[in-house]
Amino acid sequence: MEIRDRYAPSPTGLQHIGGLRTALFNYLFARSAGGKFILRLEDTDRIRFDEQFVRNLYDTFAWLGIPWDEGPDIGGPAAPYVQSERFALYQKYARDLVVQGHAYYCFCSAERLDTLRKEREAAHSSASGYDRYCRSIPLAEAAERVQTAHTIRLKIPLGETTRFRDELLGDIEWKNDDVNPDPVLLKSDGFPTYHLANVVDDHLMGISHVLRAQEWLSSTPLHVIMYRAFGWEHPRFCHLPMVMGQDGKKLSKRHGATSIDEFRRLGYLPEALINYVALLGASYEEGIDMYTLDALAARFSLDKLNKAPAIFDYKKLEWYNGQYIRMKSDEELAALALPYAVSQGLFGTIPAETEPEAANATEPNPEQRRAFIAAMPLIKERVSFLPEVPQKLGYLFSEPPIPAATEFIPKKGDLPRTIELLQMGRDLIEHLSVSTDEAAEEMIKSKAEKAGVKLGDFMMPLRVAITGARVSPPLFGSVRILGASRSLARVDRALARLTEYF
Ligand code: GLU
Repeated sequence: MEIRDRYAPSPTGLQHIGGLRTALFNYLFARSAGGKFILRLEDTDRIRFDEQFVRNLYDTFAWLGIPWDEGPDIGGPAAPYVQSERFALYQKYARDLVVQGHAYYCFCSAERLDTLRKEREAAHSSASGYDRYCRSIPLAEAAERVQTAHTIRLKIPLGETTRFRDELLGDIEWKNDDVNPDPVLLKSDGFPTYHLANVVDDHLMGISHVLRAQEWLSSTPLHVIMYRAFGWEHPRFCHLPMVMGQDGKKLSKRHGATSIDEFRRLGYLPEALINYVALLGASYEEGIDMYTLDALAARFSLDKLNKAPAIFDYKKLEWYNGQYIRMKSDEELAALALPYAVSQGLFGTIPAETEPEAANATEPNPEQRRAFIAAMPLIKERVSFLPEVPQKLGYLFSEPPIPAATEFIPKKGDLPRTIELLQMGRDLIEHLSVSTDEAAEEMIKSKAEKAGVKLGDFMMPLRVAITGARVSPPLFGSVRILGASRSLARVDRALARLTEYF
């Protein structure tokens, strides 16, 4: 059997973690089985549809680097892959079901349905859904009325049980009398509902496996009834575990970022998202955390899925992001962090012409660009998100304000001693003739030892003078990038300020 699966989003919102998980699992399953992964746009809800969400879909998956084998943008043997371009098909199949006695025309007006609902409410009735009022209208009579407004409803066989196997959850059965009574397949405006379009397309597109979120499980009995009515074999179903927040509630904005766009803006890398999301509801190999997309595809199989809901852990995702940041070369990381650096004004700003109050961030000049790349080793081990890269490097690109004297003074030290230490540090930098940061550390270590001070105490005033803070990226790496003369100027500036206190 040829494996064919699909991601079938409705462009009614931004792509989010749940959608990525569904798409990714379908992608991995198709890859792992040498099959085809298909993108289908389920744009039947014309009220909530917005073109921006279609753009967001393409943009998101291009950024993630997850391609499909067939889809609206690249075509394929089952084209078109956009449901709004397939409306004639759904109408034909809905009418076929009517002719075969598996569906019927319904002429109930919205007002009647509304009254029905209100009457039930008033009577505290537990009945819900359609009351099958038009189900018994003989076809010949209904056929005469089709010029008037109508929908087409599925005639669910009553008194039977629908059974199917879920690849993850096992055997599922559902009493037909408990299934949503005779749902609409074709609306009065001729548009299909999700159920009709989804089933017709999965069949016509040769979908062998439907991997989708567990929230769709309750629709599946209905779909199975439809496949039987059409006389089609249904695909295999696999409902993926829900994705929850730490509090056990469905993942939502309350928990943090959920749209992929937002993760992207916050400086997450696609590799980290993919790696982490691939583990939401699946386990691969004991003891291995890091997987590329290819490694995941090589390992994926349906028996690696877990039944239990997946808990989304932002901290774990942060860990992955840090790991993938460390795997970047200096050039790669600098290129990824550059847009954040520019927008934070790391390379300077110029007043906007029209609004002098507003400032336009400037692009780096060649020297700044070189320094930015050279600075990557200083922070690579210390950041989890891209915007942190420029945040940690501000002192290299503009002179930091001189901190208060207390900031310079090591624990248990005093001002005169601090000035002394700073002078020794200055001396060291002036005569620094070593080529590596490690050798410089060695030098400073022996100098501190000779002076009888702890290394940390010796470094502190120098660090504050040069970087403007007690905690900073490595000092000698910073000096290397700033150059000796700029570093010395900062030390002199600090010395001048500290001596003013006398
Ligand atoms: N269009 C549905 C969605 O938005 C597809 C559900 C399914 O995969 O059948 O998720």
